[in-house]
Amino acid sequence: YEIPTSLRSASVPLSPPMERRQWSLTDFDVGKFIGEGKFGKVYLGREKQSGYVVALKVIYKTKLEKYRFHGHLRREIEIQHGLDHPNVLRLFAWFHDADRVVLVLEYAARGELYKLLRSVGHFSERTAATYVASLAGALAYCHKKQVIHRDIKPENLLLDIEGRLKIADFGWAVRSNAKRHTLCGTIDYLAPEMVEKKAHDYAVDNWTLGILCYEFLYGSPPFEAAEQQDTLMRIVKVDLLFPKTRDISADAKDLICKLLVKDSSKRISLDDILKHAWIVKNAEPSGSCIEQKASA
Ligand code: AMP
Repeated sequence: YEIPTSLRSASVPLSPPMERRQWSLTDFDVGKFIGEGKFGKVYLGREKQSGYVVALKVIYKTKLEKYRFHGHLRREIEIQHGLDHPNVLRLFAWFHDADRVVLVLEYAARGELYKLLRSVGHFSERTAATYVASLAGALAYCHKKQVIHRDIKPENLLLDIEGRLKIADFGWAVRSNAKRHTLCGTIDYLAPEMVEKKAHDYAVDNWTLGILCYEFLYGSPPFEAAEQQDTLMRIVKVDLLFPKTRDISADAKDLICKLLVKDSSKRISLDDILKHAWIVKNAEPSGSCIEQKASA
C-alpha cells in the first residue's frame, strides 16, 4: 500500500483562525474522487493557503430534498462538528452554495476498515484489541458528550494514514438524555433491545462493540444467518457460538461474552473494557495498527 509522500504532511491541524473563516469551494484544490455515498461524492482536497489535505464530501441539495434528509444532515453536522477526539473523524468546516452542501472532513487515507477486514479475512488479536480499545475510548468520549452513535459498523469506520481508527458518518447519531424507541441501524449490529423495539440507551453501542470485536476476530458477525428473521431471533436469544475454525484466546472470548449480554445494564462498561486483560495485553497504546494481508 503506497501512500503518496505529499500526504505525509497532513498531520498539522487547521489552525483556529482558519476554522472561523467563511469557506467556499474556491479555497480548495479538488483532487481525485475517493468514493460515493447515498447523498453525494467524496473527493480528496487541498486547502490552498495551508496545503492541508482534507476529504471534501459534496452533497447535492436535490438529493437531500428527494430523501427529505435535511434534518439528518443538519444533525450530522452539528454532532460531528462538536466532537474532537483522535478516534472520531474530524469535521473541520462546512459550507453550501445554491446546489451543494460541502463537508470539509479529516482525510482517512487508508479508507474503510470494512474493506481491509474483507481483504484479510480476519484480524490478529493485536489489531482487533487495538481497534476495540480505540472504539471504546471514542465511544466513552461521545457518551460523555451525550451522543449515541447507533450505527457503528465496519462501513462507518475509517483508517487514517497511520492505521488509526476513526468513527465516521454521524448520519444516524442522536443527542440524547432520555431513552429512545426508533428502530435503525444495520440488522447484524442491532442490540436485542432494538430488535424488541424496547427503549434503548448508550448501552446499544457497547453491544455493537461486542459484535465488532467478534467480527474482527472471526471475519463475520456472530448472529449472521441466511434469513434476516433468523438473525433477529439469534440476537434476541444471544445465540453466541465460537467456531473452532480459529484459535482465539480465552481473554478475547471473555470480553465478547461480557459485551453481548441481553440485559443492557449488565454489559461491561466502556471504562472496564479498557482495563480488561485482553485489551491490556494486546492493544497498541498508540492506537495505530497496520494489518498486513498475511494476518495471523
Ligand atoms: P460516504 O458518503 O460517507 O458513505 O462516503 C463515500 C465513500 O467515501 C466511502 O467509500 C468512504 O470510504 C469514502 N470516504 C468518506 N469520507 C472519507 C474520508 N474522510 N476520508 C477518506 N475516505 C472517505
